[in-house]
Amino acid sequence: MIELKTPREIDKMAVTGRFVAEVLAELAELARPGVNLLDLEQRARRRVKERGAESCYWDYSPSFGRGPFRNVICLSVNDAVLHGMPYKYTLRDGDVLSLDFAVSIDGWVADSARTVIVGTPREEDVRLVESTRTALDAGIAAAVPGAKLGDVSAAIGAVAAAHGYPVNVQFGGHGLGRTMHEDPHVPNVGRPGRGLVLRPGLTLALEPWWSAVSNEIFTDPDGWTLRFSDGSRGAHSEHTIAITEDGARVLTRAE
Ligand code: MG
Ligand code: MG
Repeated sequence: MIELKTPREIDKMAVTGRFVAEVLAELAELARPGVNLLDLEQRARRRVKERGAESCYWDYSPSFGRGPFRNVICLSVNDAVLHGMPYKYTLRDGDVLSLDFAVSIDGWVADSARTVIVGTPREEDVRLVESTRTALDAGIAAAVPGAKLGDVSAAIGAVAAAHGYPVNVQFGGHGLGRTMHEDPHVPNVGRPGRGLVLRPGLTLALEPWWSAVSNEIFTDPDGWTLRFSDGSRGAHSEHTIAITEDGARVLTRAE
């Protein structure tokens, strides 16, 4: 079932979104060579507690993970791309780190992810990370009232296709609001003009992710972290948006 949100409810999601954006920006800034992933998890945990927010990840037990998850952020390094379980790993120069963070404040959820390059970037990694950001922007631009969900998916997928990057369709964007994962599913490839009509009040998390080479993933022995089968590096960008009369409103931008 898809629940449209009132403007007031969207404003509440934006409060959560602002916090999610602030924490992600803070952690991205901290992510330097020599910093341990567990330090980032601890910082995120402290911020969640101080804010009185509720982590959407803690105790999460979906079918695709070996639950319950006992962390408040997903940190995916290099060939890991989604659902990365923080562990005792010290970041190295050139690492590609995806941070994915979702919390609920006063009952309203926001979900966002960003990928940063730690220390000295490789040119191909910069291109990869930028492609997911560009795809996210393209998806947001396509998310206008009256458009179809397929238009958003197609806009995201077109950016990957332009780079020759293959897209995995097992995981994509999703509706959200009172909980982290609601209908509809938003694949990262699609056909324009198809699917659900976007109406004001619809709230979505758009989240392009891919590697430059492979779309095959496997689950790490930790039971959560998804890695590319060929070891290629991945990137992931995500925003929570609301469809409004004036177009998409991005709720997880730190402004
Ligand atoms: Mg997320
Ligand atoms: Mg998400």
